[in-house]
Amino acid sequence: MHIYVHIPFCARKCPYCGFFSVTEANGIPAYFEALKKEILEQPVICSAEVEGDVETVYFGGGTPSYVEAEYVCEAFRYLREMFSISEGEFTIEANPNSLDESKARMYREAGFNRISIGVQSLHDDVLKTLGRLHDRQEALDAIACAKKAGFENISCDLILGVPGQREEDLYEDAQILIDAGAKHISMYSLMIEEGTPYEKLYGDRLDEFVDEDLERRMYHGLRAFLARKGLVPYEISNCAYEGYESRHNLSYWKGREYYAFGAGAHGYLNSERFAHPESVEEYVSDPMKRITEEVLSEEAKVKEKCMLALRTSEGISHELAAGCMDIINKNIGLGYLEETASGYALTQKGLNFANLIFIDFV
Ligand code: SF4
Repeated sequence: MHIYVHIPFCARKCPYCGFFSVTEANGIPAYFEALKKEILEQPVICSAEVEGDVETVYFGGGTPSYVEAEYVCEAFRYLREMFSISEGEFTIEANPNSLDESKARMYREAGFNRISIGVQSLHDDVLKTLGRLHDRQEALDAIACAKKAGFENISCDLILGVPGQREEDLYEDAQILIDAGAKHISMYSLMIEEGTPYEKLYGDRLDEFVDEDLERRMYHGLRAFLARKGLVPYEISNCAYEGYESRHNLSYWKGREYYAFGAGAHGYLNSERFAHPESVEEYVSDPMKRITEEVLSEEAKVKEKCMLALRTSEGISHELAAGCMDIINKNIGLGYLEETASGYALTQKGLNFANLIFIDFV
């Protein structure tokens, strides 16, 4: 089993960010009280059929490192009380400007063994355009703090396709992150999300500021660069040294079920996709409230599993593919998919049209 916990607080909202997060820090104590309640009372809701060890726990956000470390460490303790959690991958997300060595040590002592740091760029002009609160040095200091505290499994995020960013900036950043100790790099293309300040600024004209060809060159170039350095592109947006692939994210892409705690968190249990309302106030007043988003039929499950599997370099297994051969054949015809030894995977061309291909499966 897998557990996701959402910590929806950030020091400031980044202008491009479409994730659910708030900046009202005075809501933090009540939020963690509600989270405690949800965790301790969850067996009433979750099926008793779910047995066995929890393989991965992921505290994401928002910015988990923005809140006092005691809060997240305590929430992790409550999870341990309620679930069988011993060996596994236990990740916390952190931002450079809110991570210090003592926090990182507390995370390690609480049992977190993987840290994902929102570096985004090591170029101060790019960080400024992104409206991030940290600079290059703080990002490097954060990685050093994590290492000193005993984190060995370190992941860093990089954003590409930022106005003003140069292709070589990215490779330089990637090399520095590798040298600093990153074992895993997540790479995201800048997107314009609805309702964000970036939407007002760029609307649907981002390509006027970032040439689409350049953005694609950056994407394929960074994957190839990382592959040459030994970080295998095992998923559309993720590259890692062997053995450092994110087990938590792989569980999503394998269509596994997972618990989700916290406001705005999305979960998948007993064939049901559900979400908590995206409101800290609502969550505090009723942490058990869940909205059913979809109950998946067997057929829908197969299609969804195929779609998720396509995100990975392994792709869809021959066994799984049997239920969706019409869609697969259509995309092979378009040059988007290809047959591999184990099944079907996206081609280089398909990587550029992944979202369109996914739509075929839903
Ligand atoms: S720190 Fe992360 S979650 Fe928070 S606003 Fe920025 S991008 Fe969004």
